[in-house]
Amino acid sequence: PIYLDNAATTQVHPMVLDAMLPYFLENYGNSGSQQHLLGWQADEAIEKSRKVIANYFQVKSRQIIFTSGATESNNLAIQGYLKNFPDKGHIITTRTEHKSVLAVFQALEKAGWNVSYLPVDQFGAIDLNELRSSIQAKTRLISLMWVNNETGLIHPIKDVCQIAKEKNIVFHCDATQALGKIDISKGKLPDLISFSGHKIYGPKGIGGLVISNEDIQIYPLVFGGDQERGLRSGTLPTQQIVGLAKAFELIPELLTKNEFYSKWKNRIADLLTTKFSELVQINSSDNSVPSILNFSIKRFDWEEMFEKLSKLALSNGSACNAKSQKPSYVLQELGVPSATALSSIRLSMGYFITEEEMEVALVYLEQQLNLMK
Ligand code: PLP
Repeated sequence: PIYLDNAATTQVHPMVLDAMLPYFLENYGNSGSQQHLLGWQADEAIEKSRKVIANYFQVKSRQIIFTSGATESNNLAIQGYLKNFPDKGHIITTRTEHKSVLAVFQALEKAGWNVSYLPVDQFGAIDLNELRSSIQAKTRLISLMWVNNETGLIHPIKDVCQIAKEKNIVFHCDATQALGKIDISKGKLPDLISFSGHKIYGPKGIGGLVISNEDIQIYPLVFGGDQERGLRSGTLPTQQIVGLAKAFELIPELLTKNEFYSKWKNRIADLLTTKFSELVQINSSDNSVPSILNFSIKRFDWEEMFEKLSKLALSNGSACNAKSQKPSYVLQELGVPSATALSSIRLSMGYFITEEEMEVALVYLEQQLNLMK
């Protein structure tokens, strides 16, 4: 199939793989072994990589904590920060966060935290006034994703940074779907930022947390050999970290493909609205990243739909929801009826897709949608 599921995961870039290879067979030392050359080499490679990532966010090396991915980074940021408040208090997020944030908030709620889950409008946007008015005297944390993984919607992160700063509240941002898709490196950054390697043509199983505000105290969730300043114990995966840094170096190159994505997103959206307006509803707003388009096929069985579109590797929302065969909670929060949400499609283009493949995909999509009419 033509791969159009890059929001779920991406192919490792060949340059990333090349950078990683020496760390499997030759430089395989443990960065914690400080008695011999192999250990020193691993440590040096890790610290060079950390510097690359720190430079991207314009922070110091010590402000980057390596984790197994964004799920762990989100857990470390939220749970690790809230350990500062044994008396608990109030925390704010939205109803359309990724499960790796939402499930943490739900667990915290069970443990006695008072939680505000902000609603979103039909485009998935939050109301900044509603955010402002939800803030209480005991609000400890705001967590809001930069880009939604199902619709591609871009949230107003700079405004939220400003609000959080005014109110002296820590702001955590899950930037997993923003990194490599829009330029997030400029200007004021959220206090805590989560990201993942496998969404930016890096390896799976590696990600990080940026502690951009050094005044913030984070407590560890994983204890052991005190790696990562004691914040995340465990032998550092040198090859994953080297690959992740190479992926960061390629980010400017990734962003050059946005014009291509915009063109094709518009062409597909035009096809859907002009020829299939009765059958199809578009769920991505204009304020979404160019590579993601989410749309629903109304009144059509979702299994049959995916069968009909089997030459395209698409997703019906987030990868982790696909198996559960439940309508996407994100789309339901946008007001999409559950039957329509079930037969929804997330098409996400990626760096390696070609004009020719997109031409083929468009013709095929039109042909198959005609069969569903
Ligand atoms: N946050 C968002 C917005 C995501 O899209 C994903 C990926 O599925 C994650 C977090 C989880 O990332 P990881 O697979 O690195 O744990």
